[in-house]
Amino acid sequence: MDVAAYEKLLPDITPRNKPFWDGCAAGELRLQRCTDCGRHRFPDAPVCPQCLSSSASWEAVSGTGTIWSWCTMHQRYFAAFADEVPYRLVYVRLTEGPLVISVLADEPDELRLDLPVRVVFRPSPGGRVIPQFSTGDLVTAA
Ligand SMILES: [Zn+2]
Repeated sequence: MDVAAYEKLLPDITPRNKPFWDGCAAGELRLQRCTDCGRHRFPDAPVCPQCLSSSASWEAVSGTGTIWSWCTMHQRYFAAFADEVPYRLVYVRLTEGPLVISVLADEPDELRLDLPVRVVFRPSPGGRVIPQFSTGDLVTAA
């Protein structure tokens, strides 16, 4: 499918965030990491919020984390998403530290804070691959 004919919102790929999206296409979650203090950051930024260094590299991270918060979207803000409501937006605290907003790809029996999740990658038209999170086999009794 042609990207122009695709009605859902797609992320803008810029020179600065391209390593993130290249990682998703390769099946890896990649984050910027400050080469001075070692802090991972998301979203990408030109300067480290901890030490103000402008030196950073990109590296693959575990893709694991826990649910920090969530909300269920019932409102159809965009017609292209009408067949997907309700869906869950999740705030995931990655194992490496940063918080990431994404979509919960599955529907666990129980949704709770600190529920373990793992990144999964969903292809979209135009070759873009979108990271989502899944409880998959990670759910254990609380
Ligand atoms: Zn730093």
